[in-house]
Amino acid sequence: MSQYQAPLKDMQFLLHEVFQAENLWQSMPQLAELIDKDTANAILEEGAKITAEVIAPLNRNSDEQGATWHDGNVTTPDGFDKAYQLYCQGGWGALSGDENFGGMGMPKMLQAMFEEMTQSASISFALYPMLTAGACLALAAHASDEMKSTYLENMYSGVWAGTMCLTEPHAGSDLGIMTSKAEAKTDGSYSVSGTKIFITGGEQDLTENIIHLVLAKIPGSAEGARGISMFVVPKFLINADGSLGERNTATCGSIEHKMGIKGSATCVMNFDGAKGYLVGETGKGLNYMFTMMNYERLGMGIQGIGAAEVSYQQAARYAHERIQGRSPTGIKSPNKGADSLIVHPDVRKMLLTMRSLNEAGRCFTSYVAKQLDLAKYSENQAEKSKAENLVALLTPVAKAFLTDMSYDNCGLGQMIFGGHGYIREWGQEQLVRDVRIAQIYEGTNGIQSLDLLGRKVVANKGVFFQQYCDEINEFINLNEESEGLMDVVASLKSALDKLQTLTQKLIMDSKQDKNLVGASATDYLAVFGYVTYGYMWAMMAKASVEKTQQDGFYQSKLLLADFYFKRLLPKADSHSHAIAAGSDPIMTMPAEMFGYSE
Ligand SMILES: Cc1cc2nc3c(=O)[nH]c(=O)nc-3n(C[C@H](O)[C@H](O)[C@H](O)COP(=O)(O)OP(=O)(O)OC[C@H]3O[C@@H](n4cnc5c(N)ncnc54)[C@H](O)[C@@H]3O)c2cc1C
Repeated sequence: MSQYQAPLKDMQFLLHEVFQAENLWQSMPQLAELIDKDTANAILEEGAKITAEVIAPLNRNSDEQGATWHDGNVTTPDGFDKAYQLYCQGGWGALSGDENFGGMGMPKMLQAMFEEMTQSASISFALYPMLTAGACLALAAHASDEMKSTYLENMYSGVWAGTMCLTEPHAGSDLGIMTSKAEAKTDGSYSVSGTKIFITGGEQDLTENIIHLVLAKIPGSAEGARGISMFVVPKFLINADGSLGERNTATCGSIEHKMGIKGSATCVMNFDGAKGYLVGETGKGLNYMFTMMNYERLGMGIQGIGAAEVSYQQAARYAHERIQGRSPTGIKSPNKGADSLIVHPDVRKMLLTMRSLNEAGRCFTSYVAKQLDLAKYSENQAEKSKAENLVALLTPVAKAFLTDMSYDNCGLGQMIFGGHGYIREWGQEQLVRDVRIAQIYEGTNGIQSLDLLGRKVVANKGVFFQQYCDEINEFINLNEESEGLMDVVASLKSALDKLQTLTQKLIMDSKQDKNLVGASATDYLAVFGYVTYGYMWAMMAKASVEKTQQDGFYQSKLLLADFYFKRLLPKADSHSHAIAAGSDPIMTMPAEMFGYSE
């Protein structure tokens, strides 16, 4: 059931009122000429049309029909091809691409909003261009100019697609143990061999060519992750004049049958001495892939919001239309046999939870996207390097907290439909199945939390964390006396103080207890996420507080902020209490007591 409408007003509120994007763009010479408020609004409005009118109507069938495999070829669901061509003709694949190679060079803040719309419309569809955009980013950052001119233009235009080939049957979270190999040939190319599994869009019928970015080891290179290099392995080799040449020996052995995102082909890819070309330097493959993965990880958070936004839109409509029971404070619809669901406190709580988390999540993706823009375009070195640090710190939070909250939100949306949420007709069960993967791929949320606490906080001795806290404290100092914001800012201050104390304690205690990081990481990421959403709601409240007379839109923001601080932020404390119990309750039970030991 496709009834998605892009939340344009909320997106414009974030861009123009919370983040004052136009001023930001004006401060960066590369963006100043390119984009202003009107252009941004026009792009978002066009994005809203193609996603709601062309892509969203395909989503239900894509789940029923799925992608299919026959004899090495993959057929995407009906309508995907036509929609993909329209997507490419609109230039959507090139939106934030490198201008030197046919990209439009638009800011990530805008790109992130368009991505959310695409994910809302259909996660299965969105994954095809999303992987290409990530591959372009890795090539633009690390490939030679010759390689960039060979591939980028056709990838931005969508004529060719890109993939990310990391995972092997025995190597998922631990890529250091991968066995795919690349042997140097006399002509400067490499012969790539190995099997990669779970490759999104490894084969499909939407594009003329597929450019695989493959991680493999050159024989004799270092052990572990330091021995991994990145190779471009095209499905069809490219002739000197740029035309398509011979079919490469990179083939799709089968596709997976999955819980959700059935329209997205998840492929087993066999590389049998396939011709490949080294990207950048040897041994840097995993670092290069992180350029792509960091992009994809924020994209996963956006994917979560996309699904949870649709779930909310449908649930809010249903809560008004469905009548069951009477309001505890007296009958509200005397002409009907019952009142609508919206009168019930528990239903309201579910809707408010969904909306306040979705809106904070969207604000957070915009915030991280803003840091990516500053890191790329700012000419102020201090600003640029702070933004890079914040991206490093916040990317695992954006991936894991957003997708955890979004999965829970889709569960709430389903619950508001009662039994009807469990059956096919209303679309809620598909959202739950589709969004679940966002917590798993691109590095599980458990691995993200280890990245946050282990690498970005403890190993970094809290330096990036302190930069983030300094910024939030500056906001607090500026606004703690402001009329209408005092309660919000006081709650944020108290939550931030507790997070800082918790962080210092973990940095200290983890020196003694080597299990502490692993035992605390998912709870720590949750505390971090709740406090971060508090900062987002405080910024949104600030942008609304003087405008409540204008229309109900701003009033609703203040009510949502109030709900968030009073009913959701306290959840951070329960995670902190769990962390305070230390690693013993987790590590004391001997492995054999878990059962099933060999
Ligand atoms: C639909 C789909 C699409 C995908 N698309 C792609 C793609 O395009 N390209 C690609 O390369 N891969 C892709 N993947 C693979 C995906 O990224 C991996 O499945 C994921 O990273 C987890 O790896 P794994 O499945 O091997 O799990 P494992 O690594 O075996 O992990 C199993 C469990 O153990 C935990 N764990 C593992 N190691 C540790 C540790 N050191 N500390 C604590 N906990 C740990 C994990 O968090 C997890 O809960 C896709 C997967 C799916 C299902």
